[in-house]
Amino acid sequence: MGRKTAVVLGGSVAGLCAAGVLARHFDEVIVLERDLLPQDAEHRRGVPQSKHPHFLLNSGRRAIGAIFPGFEEALIAAGGLHLMPSMDAAYCENDGWAPRKSGSMTMVYSSRMLIERVLRDKVRELPAIEIREGVTVTGLRSTGAGTTRGRVDGVEYRTAGDDEGYLAADLVVDALGRGSSVVDWLGAAGWSAPPEKTLDAKVTYTSRWYDLPRADRRPESWWWKHLVITPTQDTGDHPEEHEFLSNFFPIEGDRAIVCMGSWGIEMPRKADAFEAGADRVRAATFGRATRACTPASPVHLTRATGNKWRRFDLLDVPPVGLVCIGDSICAFNPFYAQGMSSAARSALILGELLGSRDTLGPAFVREFLDRQKKSLDVPWMLAMARDQAYDFATGSEVAAPWRRKLAARMSWPIFNAINATSREDAYVEQTFAKVFNLDKSLREMAADPRFWFGIVRYKVRQRLGRTVVPGGFDDQRDPPGTDFTGYTGPESASSAGTGRGGDRVDV
Ligand SMILES: Cc1cc2nc3c(=O)[nH]c(=O)nc-3n(C[C@H](O)[C@H](O)[C@H](O)COP(=O)(O)OP(=O)(O)OC[C@H]3O[C@@H](n4cnc5c(N)ncnc54)[C@H](O)[C@@H]3O)c2cc1C
Repeated sequence: MGRKTAVVLGGSVAGLCAAGVLARHFDEVIVLERDLLPQDAEHRRGVPQSKHPHFLLNSGRRAIGAIFPGFEEALIAAGGLHLMPSMDAAYCENDGWAPRKSGSMTMVYSSRMLIERVLRDKVRELPAIEIREGVTVTGLRSTGAGTTRGRVDGVEYRTAGDDEGYLAADLVVDALGRGSSVVDWLGAAGWSAPPEKTLDAKVTYTSRWYDLPRADRRPESWWWKHLVITPTQDTGDHPEEHEFLSNFFPIEGDRAIVCMGSWGIEMPRKADAFEAGADRVRAATFGRATRACTPASPVHLTRATGNKWRRFDLLDVPPVGLVCIGDSICAFNPFYAQGMSSAARSALILGELLGSRDTLGPAFVREFLDRQKKSLDVPWMLAMARDQAYDFATGSEVAAPWRRKLAARMSWPIFNAINATSREDAYVEQTFAKVFNLDKSLREMAADPRFWFGIVRYKVRQRLGRTVVPGGFDDQRDPPGTDFTGYTGPESASSAGTGRGGDRVDV
């Protein structure tokens, strides 16, 4: 079958996941990574985004677990927090603090650098994989560019000591991230460039790391682990911080990353402005909690957040011997937390195909690209649904004015209605959890009559004052800790549990 050597370009999440699947199908897998990789969970130059919160969606967690059995357990053992967001997070939605209630979704929270460290530990257990650190990939070599017999044959690189080298490969996997030069290298060799779909909704993230106060020094009302404050839908005068999507994101080691993000608004990059901005976020608890913590980093700001999909699947003659995964093929606005999961899902597809196909020729490449496209359609559609609402967004996917208006008017209200309905309708809750976690597409959800019936029924009940769980609580007070699991109305108030230290809410 001629599967001797696979070379992976880049040793971050996508590259490590790819190496994990390739190790089952190639004699040797060589990962070329420009950085020197730390033994521990530390930031490094090639992954500046590690300073911002990284939410690992469930489909990604499962995909990584399928590639590296025991990944989730190892992440938790290393300090990752296994939480149920609907119980452990306080969400401030448009109607105020959402009621707390048991749900179907659990997540593991950690820093991005811990995820990568655990992945590296897993890769180092596999003898077929060699990671060459401090090696910069500088080019690709190929033959027969643009013809049906054309293929990528290997990779050029430069070592830290400035030695140039070449590695022949049966398969090259590009996992060089957003800034990958693979398309340029292919172009220089005579291959057509894949069409690019882009949409930059001018999202800016500003984040700062904090040490939490000791548990016994936190106020009684601090039952929550994670705070999420969504942008206001109020169209009147308000501070611009009310339009931020803000996260107080818990990570290992009793720390949190406080992150504010916005579509199109200039974000603070200095410490004083950061904390003053946190004070003006819609829910006062956000600023208060931030000030109760001890800063543990400078403020980090990033604008590298546009959606960008290089459509290799649309090429008449895609190069044989090359597969692109992770941000190098499709990078997303990070608000939707899709990047790592999409990368791991692509790696799984690659593994499945390597297991079922004997050769790596054009049919292999075409099937991989088709299946990868289907998989990437799911997160891409979600990202477009929101990002196409902004007049200032730029790129090939800017929507027609009427669609922009519709998206601007409808997307947050629909999101808020889904969340409210989810608290009374298990079907809607589970369906949306699947969409959020990329286990179901937006298209499937949109075509599901039971889902919409649930939303409409909730809205009608709301009009008639017959919903069961309260809609929301005053965002100027701390989020109530009352547990509404099993709550069937005011008469059942005593049967609903009370969250740790939570206010008993008058219902
Ligand atoms: C602000 C922000 C927040 C995010 N939040 C989330 C989130 O909540 N959830 C989520 O799933 N995703 C999130 N993402 C996306 C996520 O970071 C990426 O999707 C994920 O890291 C997968 O990336 P990758 O491995 O493809 O590329 P990267 O992580 O960018 O890694 C590329 C690797 O290639 C190496 N490299 C680059 N050039 C060369 C070269 N010439 N030679 C050798 N090596 C090279 C780099 O050193 C690096 O190791 C976020 C992104 C940003 C920017």
